[in-house]
Amino acid sequence: MNLEKILKERCNKSIRNCTDQELYYALLEMTKHMAQEKVSSKGKRKLYYISAEFLIGKLLSNNLINLGIYDDVKQLLEENGKNLSEIEELEPEPSLGNGGLGRLAACFLDSIATLGLNGDGVGLNYHYGLFRQVFQDHLQCETPNPWMEKESWLTKTDRTYPISFGGFTLTTRMYDIDVTGYGSRTTKLHLFDVESVDESIVKDDSIDFDKEDIAKNLTLFLYPDDSDDKGRLLRIYQQYFMVSSGARLILDEVEERGGNLHDLSDYAAIQINDTHPTMVIPELIRLLMERGILMDEAIEIVSKTCAYTNHTILAEALETWPMHYLDQVVPQLMPIIRELDNRVRKKYRDPSVYIIDEENRVHMAHIDIHYGYSVNGVAYLHTEILKNTELNHFYRLYPEKFNNKTNGITFRRWLLHCNHGLASLIEDLIGAGFKKDAMELEKLEAFAEDAGVLERLLEVKKNCKLELKDYLEQTQGICLNENSVFDIQIKRLHEYKRQQMNALYVIQKYFEIKEGKLPVTPITVLFGAKAAPAYVIAKDIIHLILCLQQLIDNDPEVSPYLKVVMVENYNVTLAEKLIPAADIHEQISLASKEASGTSNMKFMLNGAVALGTMDGANVEIADLVGKDNIYIFGESSDTVIEHYAKADYRSRDFYEKDPDIKRAVDFIISDELLEIGQKENLERLYHELLNKDWFMTLLDFKSYVQEKEKAFREYEDRESWAKKMLINISKAGFFSSDRTIAQYNDEVWKL
Ligand SMILES: *Cc1c(COP(=O)(O)O)cnc(C)c1O
Repeated sequence: MNLEKILKERCNKSIRNCTDQELYYALLEMTKHMAQEKVSSKGKRKLYYISAEFLIGKLLSNNLINLGIYDDVKQLLEENGKNLSEIEELEPEPSLGNGGLGRLAACFLDSIATLGLNGDGVGLNYHYGLFRQVFQDHLQCETPNPWMEKESWLTKTDRTYPISFGGFTLTTRMYDIDVTGYGSRTTKLHLFDVESVDESIVKDDSIDFDKEDIAKNLTLFLYPDDSDDKGRLLRIYQQYFMVSSGARLILDEVEERGGNLHDLSDYAAIQINDTHPTMVIPELIRLLMERGILMDEAIEIVSKTCAYTNHTILAEALETWPMHYLDQVVPQLMPIIRELDNRVRKKYRDPSVYIIDEENRVHMAHIDIHYGYSVNGVAYLHTEILKNTELNHFYRLYPEKFNNKTNGITFRRWLLHCNHGLASLIEDLIGAGFKKDAMELEKLEAFAEDAGVLERLLEVKKNCKLELKDYLEQTQGICLNENSVFDIQIKRLHEYKRQQMNALYVIQKYFEIKEGKLPVTPITVLFGAKAAPAYVIAKDIIHLILCLQQLIDNDPEVSPYLKVVMVENYNVTLAEKLIPAADIHEQISLASKEASGTSNMKFMLNGAVALGTMDGANVEIADLVGKDNIYIFGESSDTVIEHYAKADYRSRDFYEKDPDIKRAVDFIISDELLEIGQKENLERLYHELLNKDWFMTLLDFKSYVQEKEKAFREYEDRESWAKKMLINISKAGFFSSDRTIAQYNDEVWKL
């Protein structure tokens, strides 16, 4: 431990005399130093995980845990009157991702390092990341979220390249973040940045800036608003900047390691995380040709190197770029993309698999599928839907390319770091082996009938609820009742995730309480969600929830029994506090729409019970825990897919037939809510539910309410509830990202 020595050099003070801020920077320096001393894995074939997002969260505690020094540091600080948790609070969270996809990439890096695999991450160094969410007048406002202080986890490297766009050239520089693995090696996250970036063009405390000044703005924000042409063009600039930088890095490293570019696939495997990095395929072909390799061979080499992960079947999320955008931003790629399309057209006379469609739009996923060697879905059901429905035309051409890799989460962050109480109870019961081998959690099943253990489990949960209460009180001025049921839904705000259904339940419960039908245990419904800045209906749903929050808080008849809270600026840091405190977690997407979900896995691991549809990884969770330990409702994915095919769902039918539904929906535009909120927003949402309801909220509402009531009833039997918690934890081992990464390596990367 040389923290004292570092402090002496930095500020010539002892631990006791330092401020928390000084201690944070000293710990940062110490940790970076220790991480850099650890070896990175070597091996001939190296993985490059390219992703536009890495939602890494705060790194200090996690790195201390992975380096095996967390307890020592904590104790040393305590002996000197300091508190590690308070120091952690000073670390800004880099929000380099939107949600699940970016968080998955971060969990994967942790597992790659932990398993000692030879693999690095490649992405962009967004200065402000995703926006910080602030609520004003019950509406979401977006402000910048700067995270790079004068000292940060970034290490500047001297690797730079010129990157050319139509009409101009920018310089890219690589910055590295060391990724520590648990107990073993480290790997790196390479983040590229433009040398000419200029933070001063961001207009004060908004996320507004000149979208056309690419040299200055390219890495300022994560996916800025793509609701207009300028925003969409900037996104293509970002994507090409990322993949061209990455491709040059990969080719240089192969040559530095003595490799020959003809054998590229022996030296590199490239995992393309969703379609955002797709241009790496034509870019690599272009660079190989520039270095003297003929096109036929270049295509073959790249096709053996690149693998693609599909993350969604939502049509609006499958990227297609108009050809004139690409002509403008990356004219050098167009001859290659056209040739790739020509080859497809010659071979398969099926327009649905062409790369360029009749409207001159380029289908990015089609490039990945034709010119990559692997296509994977992210949960069993999702992969089946890809094969049988969404990508069926491709599956018929290339059945051997399709495979499933059910997502996972790193147990270091989502158990050891975020829930010390639970981790130490588990260690007490089954030893420390589960920290390395998550499947050992199954040993907990032996305690399923042990009243003493179940009692301790409930006590751990109660403590987590108290910690959350403290935290939200101090940071957001929110006051929770720790004796209520904590029912939590935290995820991006999207109609398919159906936060609106949960909000309608709140309205129904509000009416019941008004009528004197009181819940046995008070209920706290917690939401956390950011909406994309241009997603109007999503913002209206946030507005509705915030209005309900105020209405209920101010109603003394209802507030002792029901509380609604929308936490501000949901991010990884908040997830780490909310998840351990949950009793029930909501995974209520319309079946077939959620590819996997990963918060469902985090909650399960922390002893919460799911209320959900048979969607994404919920299907596998239900399989593992059995029907007594999960609450499942709603129409199946087959039925939903049929409704879409026949276009026969009409939300108005459900509204007109069912007085409870009608009452809840009508309440959105009631005098009570209009007094608190904005007429425009509430009316728009009301009409959306009544006339469109694209994600079939009203279809599942009845069975949702029924199953939720069942969960609340069963919650009252505390011992049998604790058993459900225990079974959930004991079956969570399958969802360790160590398992996911081992499967990627065995079946796709073969490092
Ligand atoms: C895990 C996580 C997500 C993904 O949540 P889902 O419910 O699976 O969509 C999103 N955001 C944050 C901050 C997370 O930690």
